[in-house]
Amino acid sequence: VAKERGKNQYAFYNPALTQKAEYRFRVEQNLREAVENQQLSLVYQPQVQIHTGKIIGVEALSRWYHPRLGQISPVEFIATAERIGMIKPLTEWVLKTACNQAVAWKQIGLPAIRMAVNISPVHFLDKDFVALVKRVIDQTGMVPSELELEVTESVVQTDHQNLAVFRELKDLGVLLAIDDFGTGYSSLASLKHLAVDCLKIDKYFIDDMLADSKSKILLGSMIEMGHNLEHEIIAEGVETAEQCQRLQKLGCETAQGYLFRKPVSADEITKLLRRSMKDGQRLWPHAIEP
Ligand code: C2E
Ligand code: MG
Ligand code: MG
Ligand code: MG
Repeated sequence: VAKERGKNQYAFYNPALTQKAEYRFRVEQNLREAVENQQLSLVYQPQVQIHTGKIIGVEALSRWYHPRLGQISPVEFIATAERIGMIKPLTEWVLKTACNQAVAWKQIGLPAIRMAVNISPVHFLDKDFVALVKRVIDQTGMVPSELELEVTESVVQTDHQNLAVFRELKDLGVLLAIDDFGTGYSSLASLKHLAVDCLKIDKYFIDDMLADSKSKILLGSMIEMGHNLEHEIIAEGVETAEQCQRLQKLGCETAQGYLFRKPVSADEITKLLRRSMKDGQRLWPHAIEP
């Protein structure tokens, strides 16, 4: 019932709400243990260069399967981790695991690809965050320019603390991407101040780009603007061949979405990279079958 009334409406003594609160409580209780005992895992979603069909990077996405609660969405447990002060150890684990994986792929002779990791906005309020990233890079032997940190626009307000962290991260040599671009606030102002490498255009604009002429116009303008500012453009949530073709016509160079692959295990990525190297197989326009 609460859902039907909209997300932000209060409803008292609502059993659905109580259930939700209870679920949250369980997630909270179990998350600490999950992070400490490394019960999380990572999956990787290919980022595809549209004109060659090659995998040029992957985005690491966290997964948590709890024996009793089942699969818990990262949207849920990342927010929980932020709330209960577990986001720092969680991010450190994600960064380490992702960087170790990237290094391992190169060690078995696969071509270098970019590893993208989502970074929660709360880290930009933490003076020690840059040191954490540096430590992980040093410990894993990751090449900094092959690591991309994805942050949402909420981070990139022109706040001094945030700007300082951004600059220090850039000084480490890592790449920075604005995630969910176009849906946040202050997006344009922030682009002026930040050394951003990549804009990831939110799925929201991709979803109705074929049906809605305004979305198409906005998309074209964002791509053009991004390119004029020398940012790479990645389209998120690309699900159909038509979308991909249209994106290519609009000048978009990179795409990510179920059209190519859902997020998959490291082993699956290894197979894809091997086949791409051996037989020159591509994820686009003729998809490699699973
Ligand atoms: P995001 O960073 O925008 O990641 C993209 C999300 O869209 C992922 O959902 C991905 O599985 C999904 N997706 C990709 N292509 C398609 C598509 O074609 N269609 C549809 N419907 N969905 C697609 P996921 O894995 O559930 O993650 C949700 C969000 O949780 C992420 O959004 C990210 O903000 C956050 N997240 C996930 N892992 C981490 C993490 O390790 N750290 C942090 N801070 N946030 C994370
Ligand atoms: Mg992301
Ligand atoms: Mg994200
Ligand atoms: Mg996104």
